[in-house]
Amino acid sequence: MAGADLATRIREEVQREAEELGGACLATILVGDDPASHIYIDRKHAAANEVGIATRDVRLPSSASQEEVLALVEELNEDDGVDGMLVQLPLPEHMNETLITHAVDPVKDVDGFHPVNAGNLYLGTPLHIPATAWGCMELLAEYGVEVKGADAVVIGRSEIVGKPMAMLLLAAHATVTICHSRTRDLGEHTGRADIVVAAVGRPWLVTPDMIKPGAAVVDVGINRTEEGLRGDVDPAVAEVAGAMTPVPGGVGPMTIALLLRSTLKAARYRRGLLAFRGH
Ligand code: NDP
Repeated sequence: MAGADLATRIREEVQREAEELGGACLATILVGDDPASHIYIDRKHAAANEVGIATRDVRLPSSASQEEVLALVEELNEDDGVDGMLVQLPLPEHMNETLITHAVDPVKDVDGFHPVNAGNLYLGTPLHIPATAWGCMELLAEYGVEVKGADAVVIGRSEIVGKPMAMLLLAAHATVTICHSRTRDLGEHTGRADIVVAAVGRPWLVTPDMIKPGAAVVDVGINRTEEGLRGDVDPAVAEVAGAMTPVPGGVGPMTIALLLRSTLKAARYRRGLLAFRGH
């Protein structure tokens, strides 16, 4: 289940809609000098600009105070020219990530981390959905994986990937099991599943003996190892699985595409062109 073509199609759709809308604007805040974060932010800006979404790129040194970041979030919340906003994680250790991400106006919170957005996802009436989990659902749909009635196992329970993923699968009528680091026998759960989503951060944790023949396997993991980039799923699983996302080139390209779609959603909502039940 490769993601590049589908991601390109979503970007093209966003470009058409952004043009119809007369543009949109995404603001990002990056604090500190984590090289991976700078690369991710550069990519988000390039992708947004490519589809006609304007961007504001605010980068602060790691010496910045939490109060400065909160004041900046508030300023962008109030700024009528900004439709969507995200704070790149991780933040430096002296900052409270929860406090800062929860300060973002829920309407502009394109990452979907604000409690209003998380709560609406739980209630089945989401405005903003965390992009990676949304991308996984789009991949399953694209490749014709039947979610309704399926036994699905999500490995990982982070706010960013695991929990929203489980909520989306549940909303799509799967029977969902969430596994984590204290799960007693991971293979016993995954071995029964029709759909396995691995969002763990442990290279090749999921091995062929843990997968039911024919199951769909979605690998969210991005692990930089001495041997190179590895997912959470051993590539040998492809020999057992009915369908599987590669790393790289699977979930990765989807995340930015869905972030762009979320920015457009924020812009349409802010212009009164989109209603949602959960507000
Ligand atoms: P977190 O570290 O926040 O969460 C990892 C989860 O995995 C936790 O719930 C943890 O359990 C669980 N876990 C850890 N070890 C095991 C184990 N041995 N068995 C079962 N569960 C385990 O990570 P994220 O959710 O932020 O990210 C997960 C992976 O996805 C990472 O590799 C990350 O780089 C990647 N990622 C990829 C994205 C993309 O665009 N493709 C976007 C975001 C993330 P517990 O809660 O008990 O600690």
